[in-house]
Amino acid sequence: MAKYIFITGGVVSSLGKGITAAAVGSLLTSRGLRIRIMKLDPYLNVDPGTMSPYQHGEVYVTDDGAETDLDLGHYERFTGAPTSRKSNVTAGRIYWDVLEKERRGDYLGGTVQMIPHISNEIKSRIRALEEPDVDVILCEIGGTVGDIEGSIFLEAIREIGLEQGRDNVVYIHLTYVPFIAAAGEVKTKPSQQSVAKLREIGIMPDILICRAEVPLSMEVRKKLSLFCNVPLHSVIEETDVKHSIYEVPLVLSDQGLDEQIMVHFRIARPQADLTPWRKVINAIRNPRGEVSIGVVGKYQELQDAYKSIFEALDHGCIAHSIKLNLVKIASEDLEKGKTAAIDTVDGILIPGGFGHRGVEGKVLAVQMAREKGIPFFGICMGLQCAVIEFARNVCGLANANTTEIDPQSPHPVVCLMEEQKGLTTLGGNMRLGAWHCKLKPDTRVAKAYDTLNISERHRHRYEFNNDYREKLQEGGLILAGTTPDESLVEIVEIKDHPWFVAVQFHPEFKSQPFNPHPLFAGFVGAAYARKTDG
Ligand code: GLN
Repeated sequence: MAKYIFITGGVVSSLGKGITAAAVGSLLTSRGLRIRIMKLDPYLNVDPGTMSPYQHGEVYVTDDGAETDLDLGHYERFTGAPTSRKSNVTAGRIYWDVLEKERRGDYLGGTVQMIPHISNEIKSRIRALEEPDVDVILCEIGGTVGDIEGSIFLEAIREIGLEQGRDNVVYIHLTYVPFIAAAGEVKTKPSQQSVAKLREIGIMPDILICRAEVPLSMEVRKKLSLFCNVPLHSVIEETDVKHSIYEVPLVLSDQGLDEQIMVHFRIARPQADLTPWRKVINAIRNPRGEVSIGVVGKYQELQDAYKSIFEALDHGCIAHSIKLNLVKIASEDLEKGKTAAIDTVDGILIPGGFGHRGVEGKVLAVQMAREKGIPFFGICMGLQCAVIEFARNVCGLANANTTEIDPQSPHPVVCLMEEQKGLTTLGGNMRLGAWHCKLKPDTRVAKAYDTLNISERHRHRYEFNNDYREKLQEGGLILAGTTPDESLVEIVEIKDHPWFVAVQFHPEFKSQPFNPHPLFAGFVGAAYARKTDG
């Protein structure tokens, strides 16, 4: 029978609940336990895939093609445990499914209620992660305790505690313990009230993780213990980490968090082997140099919309023990002629994107990278911009474009599948999730991956137009990767350049701190070599 860990948050949002949940998960995997980890989001959107990146940051894509909350990215990066469609469920999805059942007559005309119908639906979504070889299921509840839309989720996790038996369920509450500068004091009251709210619904937290700006004194810990009704040793402090979020597992383990979970569950496992984490932190704390990478995107998106890209760049730097200086370059600034930033960076990355705005600036960034020999890495829309630039400026195909931007382009070098001859249509649907890709031997990517068969995740509609394969190859573009049946181009490269690689997929989703993605490590390495060589 699987054990459960539920992670709730109190007082304020943005405490880093996702990172804390991921860090707890990583400690369990370090103890040799097999875990699954999921997030319940109490908002009413049915599908996070259609939510604005301005409000919600990046859409994270799983192997099975689910478009999910970015916290799943933290889960996979920290724990290596695979996430899937089952790992992110919104309240909108729950209500939708219950109402659909009601319309179908599944409830036989009975009264449909929050309890038990909605709560049962939530529980069945959590229990869907149970598998014979899974030891522990971690479940993060989005939002803050006290939110109206979240209360039914708290009810559902309370019921799971009752059904599984309290020995098999750990409730972790992440709270905020503010330091009031004017009073020179740390305040426990918000935490007391947040725990009181949990107790109202019948949940007694077993462990309190306290986000704080200053270390908690023994006096404060005692107060939290007494008023929040958790044992003193279960008051865990999580102050802001100095160097990296990857310090969090060590911070929690040093205070015995994983040991307490083992004791609660009565499972014996050897101490967690945290050597990989210590190596990561060591590389971050003692860099041998620094590299500047320019990420060219739409201005507002540069905040949280490229979370996995920024993380993967960090991993690439960890691989070389160097520090990342991230330079966010707004593509619209480039269009206005403000290109000075390009000359200050050692490498240029163009991430994925949708819609017209800023595309010409990205094409200009590719041109500058190509002509100036600046290491370049294009991802998804980044590949499409690289193909457009190469067609226009190397192959002389004036006004080459993607039909996403210019449906009338005389040279639609990037277009929808159904706009191409002989290809099965996807009906304008996204190509989503894991696809296999075959690499051409002796290319840069084949060397970086050290294999000719890879699988990477996709999220796009438009494709390299096969009608232009010959023309662009004549110009010197290398088609370094295709789908196994060779019907779709997945990777392009050019020769005689320190590093010019563009991919149609999203490698950033599969990078981990102690297992950096080979293309990110290769790109960052080329950028650092260019800097140090000259
Ligand atoms: N807008 C492009 C497409 O749909 C690129 C998508 C992306 O970069 N993720 O194909």
